Amino acid sequence: MARDYYKILGVAREASSEEIKKAFRRVARETHPDTNHDDPLAETRFREAAEAYEVLSDPDRRSRYDRGDTIDLSDLLGGFGGLDDLLRSVFGDGGVFGGAGSRSSRGRDILVRTEVSLEEAAFGSEAAVEYPTLVSCSDCSGTGSEPGHDLATCPDCGGVGQVRVARRSLFGTMMSVTTCPRCNGEGELLTNPCLNCDGSGSVSEDVMLSIEIPAGVSSGTRLRLSDRGESGGRAGPAGDLFVEVAVAPDSRFERQDADLIHIVSIGLAEASLGTRLEIPLVEGGTIDLEIEAATQPKSVFRIPGRGMTVLGRRTRGDLVVVVDVVVPSDLSSEEETLLRSWAELRGEKIDRPAST
Ligand SMILES: [Zn+2]
Ligand SMILES: [Zn+2]
Repeated sequence: MARDYYKILGVAREASSEEIKKAFRRVARETHPDTNHDDPLAETRFREAAEAYEVLSDPDRRSRYDRGDTIDLSDLLGGFGGLDDLLRSVFGDGGVFGGAGSRSSRGRDILVRTEVSLEEAAFGSEAAVEYPTLVSCSDCSGTGSEPGHDLATCPDCGGVGQVRVARRSLFGTMMSVTTCPRCNGEGELLTNPCLNCDGSGSVSEDVMLSIEIPAGVSSGTRLRLSDRGESGGRAGPAGDLFVEVAVAPDSRFERQDADLIHIVSIGLAEASLGTRLEIPLVEGGTIDLEIEAATQPKSVFRIPGRGMTVLGRRTRGDLVVVVDVVVPSDLSSEEETLLRSWAELRGEKIDRPAST
């Protein structure tokens, strides 16, 4: 058995058909090529998930697969049309990302990335993103027609947008309905195309947008801005803009969900006698932390409410301080003498000659 379809969809072997459908929807959204233009692996994962869904959603194929029988993949997903049909059956006419069904094509979704500091991720910030895209042409307001000129009904399809074509096959001539090539399914033709956009209704532009990064984001969080993707041209709805956030590493903290871990090293005497430490805070500044006498290595101190903001809430996680006790490795001869007499007082046996 070549591929583990259950693993590809992230479901258990005993998953119900509803769970499988849900899992496929999720993977398809995450990996759909339209939102992952610059991630070549996404399309591969997307196709794998589609294949896994095709097999597991069919009870007969699924039981053959579970028994370890070979599944003939050639009857699955016959070309891109097959994939489209599959997506339509799972997501409906609105497509993977929802939105109204329309015979005009929807503009593409766009994915951009932006990096924020840990502090910005903790408390939210504004970020500027710049991306090349297609925007609605301002000369013709996206209609594609020079102002004052009307659209003409397409003579080939009579305004329906679809035509019947004859196709020859082994079984004789078959009629099928296809999108009208003359008007691209729009049913109307431009009499005077707009000079600025050549009749497409959209033009290329570098768009600069200021977006709000919500408090609590983590690396990989994707923010969706509806209709900020590519213009769909004439009458087509715009795609969406997805902004993927990367949180820059911060050498002082390690993040664990909403908690921040800070590791601090102290000496043997400090651990033994107790001390006070200044611990950095993600919001800037420091907080004092009392270290009691006889603090053991790897002791954990939790400072409540000083971690990251929980996404979508106002509460914060904790700042977790891990105290590491460091055994000195660079003793001067004076320190060594002191340590030896201290060991003698404690009755510790030092069965090694002095190093100097
Ligand atoms: Zn125009
Ligand atoms: Zn037509």
